[in-house]
Amino acid sequence: MMDKTLRNALPAREASERIKDFFEVSPGFSEQTALAEAARCLSCKNAPCMKGCPVGVHIPDFIAALRTEGAQAAAAVISADNNLPAVCGRVCPQENQCEKFCIRREKLGGSVSIGALERFVADHAPETEKRRPAPCGISVAVVGSGPAGLSCAADLAKAGAKVTVFEALHKAGGVLEYGIPEFRLPKAVVDKEIKALEALGVEIRCDEVVGRSVTLPELMETHDAVFIGSGAGLPLFLGIDGETLCGVLSANELLTRVNLMKAYREDAVTPVPRGKNVVVVGAGNVAMDAARTARRLGAEVTLVYRRSRAEMPARAEEIAHAEEEGIKFELLTNPVRIHGDEKGFVCGVTCVRMRLGEPGKDGRRRPIVVEGSEFDIPCDELVVALGTTPNPLIKSSYPDLPTTEKGTVIADENGRTPIPRLYAGGDAMTGAATVILAMGAGKRAAKAILEDCAPRA
Ligand code: FAD
Ligand code: SF4
Repeated sequence: MMDKTLRNALPAREASERIKDFFEVSPGFSEQTALAEAARCLSCKNAPCMKGCPVGVHIPDFIAALRTEGAQAAAAVISADNNLPAVCGRVCPQENQCEKFCIRREKLGGSVSIGALERFVADHAPETEKRRPAPCGISVAVVGSGPAGLSCAADLAKAGAKVTVFEALHKAGGVLEYGIPEFRLPKAVVDKEIKALEALGVEIRCDEVVGRSVTLPELMETHDAVFIGSGAGLPLFLGIDGETLCGVLSANELLTRVNLMKAYREDAVTPVPRGKNVVVVGAGNVAMDAARTARRLGAEVTLVYRRSRAEMPARAEEIAHAEEEGIKFELLTNPVRIHGDEKGFVCGVTCVRMRLGEPGKDGRRRPIVVEGSEFDIPCDELVVALGTTPNPLIKSSYPDLPTTEKGTVIADENGRTPIPRLYAGGDAMTGAATVILAMGAGKRAAKAILEDCAPRA
């Protein structure tokens, strides 16, 4: 008889409770649930789930280790391939990655909850002392301390390289620190994983803006190699009338004020707009995070998206949580004009209804305006979450840097740019993507750096 036990889903706090604070939505698996879920893994010989993991975590091995030896042994298996397991266990879109390929998905009670198990292991494994490897004689500068930079730095440090990370902000972590909200990814979790990397010997220098306080050529002169992992932090806007009104802001600005500067706290020195009726434009993870953050700051929130629910790019879990929390979705709707009051503050937005036409070049059905469908949504804050591109600062301070029209750095799949000893990866190279793809890029670049720069005997 085939085992058809049902998948254990992550528990979540009641929506009516969690919208009152910024604490984490899910408390994670209990030990009993984690072991029950681990017991569902069939230890498939060919491990199809691993096909879906961009950093190649040995999934059946870590789950077996959890079952038989406990969290510490499982953590040792995971950390051989993944330098930020507590982060990935929380924010990776597992439903499109490892869990999508799990053999149990269709007919055997649902995929094993691999992400929730990874999180359980990372949260429960006792900290072990990190041994610093013997120096290998290579020195590397890493620009940016997001998942790409940290992952690259960690693999280099594990191989004995001397690694210095240059980070523009006053805290390390990139989007993990300033973008993804506390209620999805507590900052204590990010800090703990970064401390573990520092224990490997990675030096992180905050408040260092490459292109201002130090230039790329200077870093290349003083290091054997430089990795650019500076992300894609420049927000895109709608380009419609009224976008410069007070109360219109990017999701990046809202989230940075709240996450990095802790503006949600009563004692915070950084202010944040606290609209009563907030419109968020967009439907990716960033839009969901902005909408759910505005909700926790006390607003009624309407999310406006020009396609239908099926095309919403955010994780299914984030969409479901947003709905539970009372976010209203206006789908097949596009803003065309933002209105202000006599003092210059936003007071509403005119939208049009859309319908979906034939698929365009990207394979997605094109939204088409429905004639005569204009209507107004009153609001006192409007948040734009339409995506981001790389910040042009590094390019402007070093015009030789090879970039595409969109401003992303040109490099091959192993992060090698056309300039010798200069590497890139993560959102800086691909445009806005995911944590695990950025980490995978950082790892491949670390491998390339070690191959290219190994001191000759
Ligand atoms: P980043 O994380 O952007 O890090 C780049 C770092 O470089 C930053 O710290 C920046 O300050 C620094 N930097 C930039 N310029 C310079 C300079 N000139 N000098 C020095 N330092 C510099 N992905 C998921 O997988 N799951 C999610 O749930 C998810 N949610 C998201 C929610 C939000 C709000 C956002 C914005 C993104 C989300 N993503 C999610 C996407 C994911 O976070 C990114 O794809 C990932 O962080 C990219 O990593 P990175 O290291 O390339 O860049
Ligand atoms: Fe376990 Fe699913 Fe991977 Fe098979 S595919 S090893 S059941 S997690």
